[in-house]
Amino acid sequence: MADLTPTPDRPGLHVSKPSPNAPPTGSAVCHCGATATATGDAQVKALVEGYTSNHGPAHHRTEARR
Ligand SMILES: [Zn+2]
Repeated sequence: MADLTPTPDRPGLHVSKPSPNAPPTGSAVCHCGATATATGDAQVKALVEGYTSNHGPAHHRTEARR
């Protein structure tokens, strides 16, 4: 199985739930250098929302406005 965890070479957002009884985990790496990890439903949700609104595609929106 491929390693889907984002790295600086392959930035992105990845969320996984290893087993039904384990909390979900998430990791995000942005091309700007920001990295974050989260464990548990609330933290993963915050990670996804923060990454989506501040990093990844959001950088393109900011640059387009200049
Ligand atoms: Zn970023």
